[in-house]
Amino acid sequence: MTLCGAHRAIWPRIGRLRPCYTSAMATGSLTLSEHPRELVQVVCDRCERKGRYRGARLIAKHGPDIRLPDLLREIAANCPKAGGLGNDMCGARYEGL
Ligand SMILES: [Zn+2]
Repeated sequence: MTLCGAHRAIWPRIGRLRPCYTSAMATGSLTLSEHPRELVQVVCDRCERKGRYRGARLIAKHGPDIRLPDLLREIAANCPKAGGLGNDMCGARYEGL
């Protein structure tokens, strides 16, 4: 298990490990089946897109074991800036996570 920055900073004081979902997101270890929401919202600040997807439908289409970052790439694949670089890159992200 990995610790996020905040947990690592206070680690010596806690003295024990706690699950950190921020960290799980950052390392991409969280899969679709572990996603706590019924409705998945994806937004892109760069191309002003907004999408809502039913968790059950996403699982049916992509499988329960797809990692959330991979799923995000799948969803944003048709974004006009998906293949962009640097500042012109697609900014798709999960909303509310
Ligand atoms: Zn985009």
